[in-house]
Amino acid sequence: MHLDYVFDPPEIPALPVTEQGPLFPLRRIFCVGRNYAAHAIEMGNEVDREAPFYFTKSAHCLCHTGREIDYPRVTEDCHYEMEFCVAIGAEAAQVSAANAMDAVFGYASGIDLTRRDLQALAKHLRRPWDVGKNFENAAILGPVTRKADFGEIADQTIWLDHDGTRAQNAPLSDMIWSVPEIIADLSRLYTLLPGDLIMTGTPAGVGAVKPGSVLKGGIDGLVPVQVTIRKDGQ
Ligand code: MN
Repeated sequence: MHLDYVFDPPEIPALPVTEQGPLFPLRRIFCVGRNYAAHAIEMGNEVDREAPFYFTKSAHCLCHTGREIDYPRVTEDCHYEMEFCVAIGAEAAQVSAANAMDAVFGYASGIDLTRRDLQALAKHLRRPWDVGKNFENAAILGPVTRKADFGEIADQTIWLDHDGTRAQNAPLSDMIWSVPEIIADLSRLYTLLPGDLIMTGTPAGVGAVKPGSVLKGGIDGLVPVQVTIRKDGQ
């Protein structure tokens, strides 16, 4: 069947799978808030193990690793947040933590770029976080490594270098909510589907980028992500 659209439909955002073969098409991006105690504390929040909470980014926020991007508009305090990302490869609805890993296709390195000033204002005004979190190039993602190639999630290091200086450095075992717990909890709220991606929160050491900043970050066993903030212009 031939479908007509009033304009050309957008390309489907997609990630390479360990840089060869078919792509991983992105569906939705779910992000976990405050999943590392030291980061919650640096943001002035209490550590809360009552329940995880989430926000989302459009898959069209995707920025492929290796790119140079403009400093985001309407912010004077744009922050990097290095995150371990879980790529979903099978439907999961109301699954238990014990079964949750069956839904995982693989993992990727990602940076949750954040307009911290707009997020802070939204928190203050009790408004949604969208303008602080969901904007062009705000999901900087590397290629997906298959689950079996990465192995067990344990104490692999998650790290980020800002202009060559180590800014974030923690073991994945510092996560308050484990990956199976996050998948189980999210699958209560949503039917997770192939192509969904979960950014599992950032460790301590987040900070502001500036024009000319080079960010490089990764997780041991995954391909790192790198992005450069353009020097000139907004
Ligand atoms: Mn984040």
